[in-house]
Amino acid sequence: LEAKEEFSHKTLALDVMRPRRTNPPLTVLTQDSMTVEDMEGIISETTYSGYPVVVSRESQRLVGFILRRDLIISIESARKKQDGIVSSSIIYFTDHSPPLPPTSPSTLKLRNILDLSPFTVTDQTPMEIVVDIFRKLGLRQCLVTHNGKLLGIITKKDVLKHIAQMANQDPDSILFN
Ligand code: ADP
Repeated sequence: LEAKEEFSHKTLALDVMRPRRTNPPLTVLTQDSMTVEDMEGIISETTYSGYPVVVSRESQRLVGFILRRDLIISIESARKKQDGIVSSSIIYFTDHSPPLPPTSPSTLKLRNILDLSPFTVTDQTPMEIVVDIFRKLGLRQCLVTHNGKLLGIITKKDVLKHIAQMANQDPDSILFN
């Protein structure tokens, strides 16, 4: 791959990340305000391999990244084995349980399955560099931020599609096999 030639027109992370303007927004989890039922809803309504976790929807400040399969396993197991875990139980990824009324059901701490330092780039990062990072670090996905706020996600497949578009080649034949 002749990186310099292929990416000379400087596509940016912003151009490749999801969501695009027409897409539904990024599916995120909040760090300490969603219930078991909320997260089960997201698991059944989406098929993404993972979900960014943010402080709050308003702030969009990134806390970490959680794999869909880890979330499914943890919720299923807590439902079976952990006393008091019900649909309305709050799931939290923080160190301490959020303050809740005394009548609230037991909470479920899932900090242990959270990747606390997912790889991020800013939206203005040239794709040339993003491709290089994916290749060198063997990333599955990378989050995109703007002024510290979470903006989007780029998966390995998004990168491959981008490369294929640039090179007009079969994505599976390049770079990652
Ligand atoms: P893949 O890219 O390997 O199919 P995913 O199923 O995770 O992996 O992602 C499918 C598409 O959805 C990709 O274009 C990706 O950028 C986007 N995507 C991934 N995770 C999310 C998410 N949490 N919210 C919105 N879009 C996402």
